[in-house]
Amino acid sequence: MAVVTGGASGIGQATCERFVDLGWQVVAADLAPVGSRARAASDAVLEVQADVTDAADITRLVEFTTERFGRVDAVVTSAGIARNAPVRDTTPDEFRRTLEVNLVATFAVVRAFVDLLAADGGGSVVTISSVSGLRGSQDRAAYSASKGGVVALTSQLAFELADEAIRVNCVAPGSTLTPLAQKAQDPQAKKAILQSIPLHRYAQPAEIAEVVTFLAGQGSGFVTGQTWTVDGGQSIG
Ligand code: NAD
Repeated sequence: MAVVTGGASGIGQATCERFVDLGWQVVAADLAPVGSRARAASDAVLEVQADVTDAADITRLVEFTTERFGRVDAVVTSAGIARNAPVRDTTPDEFRRTLEVNLVATFAVVRAFVDLLAADGGGSVVTISSVSGLRGSQDRAAYSASKGGVVALTSQLAFELADEAIRVNCVAPGSTLTPLAQKAQDPQAKKAILQSIPLHRYAQPAEIAEVVTFLAGQGSGFVTGQTWTVDGGQSIG
């Protein structure tokens, strides 16, 4: 079974749906209700309303998973925010909040699940970075810093948890058609982004979910500490 944070929308939701297609049971954790296709698709998706920046909510999520399943095979950390702004308009408090949700909460969620992952012979963690975490992007100081941190955190966690047969990998999506991307980009930025993608289109959330679920599953059993870029070639231009 898998736990997916940010499971109510976008890449997290598509990941829940793909897990269900593959026969997994899923706990979707999100601030927002999962009242979506993910749940309609199957009763294999259970929902926990949780704020990943809240320690008590994370504890509740681990307890729920333990009570229902007594194990976890994969944890996917897709909850995230993106508030784009130039450096001068990004206050240190806004910068901290982005790091809190995208980076610190990724660490806190994985840390909380380590014992359960290790208990049953190991498991898999998939974190979500971004091409913005791999190189500079327009107006993304806080977001890029948080996502670069996720890449570094992934290799560190992989290194440290390998002895317990816990693999930790990261997916760095390029521009993907989700509410987050639509909120964060004005029409001019969208045009520039499409020009910068060699495949000249956005990713569908399902295309990211396909890679996430592959890294979560046993088919990728010898892959750990890696960041896989899924971006239509955006980062090679
Ligand atoms: P989305 O807005 O569709 O989904 C994000 C989900 O995270 C939402 O359901 C939201 O409620 C949840 N969330 C936010 N803060 C939370 C919190 N504190 N606690 C619990 N849940 C919280 O966005 P998305 O595009 O699917 O993004 C998913 C991940 O993919 C993010 O980490 C994002 O940075 C990353 N990403 C997205 C893109 C893109 O173009 N869409 C590109 C690269 C990386």
